[in-house]
Amino acid sequence: MEVVRTVSRMRAARQQWDGPLGLVPTMGCLHQGHLAIVRQARTDTPAVIVSIYVNPSQFGAGEDFVSYPRQLDRDLELLKAEGVDLVFAPSDDGMYPPGFSTHIDVTGVSERLEGAARPGHFRGVATVVAKLCNLVRPSHAYFGQKDAQQLLVIRRMVADLDMGIHIIAVPTVRESDGLALSSRNTYLNARERRAATVLFRALTLARGLHEAGEDDADRIRAEMTSLIENEPLARLDYVSIADAETLGELRVIVRPALASLAVHIGKTRLIDNMPLDRQDSGRP
Ligand code: AMP
Repeated sequence: MEVVRTVSRMRAARQQWDGPLGLVPTMGCLHQGHLAIVRQARTDTPAVIVSIYVNPSQFGAGEDFVSYPRQLDRDLELLKAEGVDLVFAPSDDGMYPPGFSTHIDVTGVSERLEGAARPGHFRGVATVVAKLCNLVRPSHAYFGQKDAQQLLVIRRMVADLDMGIHIIAVPTVRESDGLALSSRNTYLNARERRAATVLFRALTLARGLHEAGEDDADRIRAEMTSLIENEPLARLDYVSIADAETLGELRVIVRPALASLAVHIGKTRLIDNMPLDRQDSGRP
């Protein structure tokens, strides 16, 4: 497995493949969710590149860019065991050299939910993913359903800019009690870790209500909110029952919807989501 630390070396290394190539962008501190994505890419494409880059431009002021967990040596061991061909782990100077001034704004779908809560977040995400795609020139790029809005933003960008890349969504990997795996779970102490199941419980409640015939989105949001308010360590940022494509909030669920939420557990902000679609049998 080759490990590449510079943009120029990445460009040169890319020349060795001329067939399908999978790209898995990550911020490292890898867990089984990331590895499920890598395995999907290994199944689909003969060569797989994983990027590990904690992208400063997608963190807001006062967010956890500095404290974000970094463990490159361990990540490299895990990726080697998965048979990854190349890991691209660039420096900040390499990705954003002096004078850098181009950004990608995906309007509409990026303005709601995480976009509203974290201004500039998706601008940073779209810009870095576009850079990674230009450098690596993958045929397929892989993203987790865990970050459902990110997936929609990337799909929009790839379509609008004719990037010609297949965007593949991989289902959310969860702990046995339902907590979605996340690098940020490492911030939680034991009490917070127990409280963090409230996200999955709220989403499961939403899905249960919807499957039992509830179509009134306000009622589902209210039930989710009261469940979260009953957890002393949780502070709700938002709950959403939205159109699964546009993420516009729904009053009545008449088409495939996405239940999503952001909750602070102590100092840690967690997000999660679940599709609400009565025809949907393949549950993430
Ligand atoms: P991150 O390192 O947090 O930027 O995540 C890299 C990729 O892994 C993103 O496409 C995420 O959506 C995806 N991902 C993160 N957590 C999970 C999970 N629990 N299950 C599946 N994919 C995930």
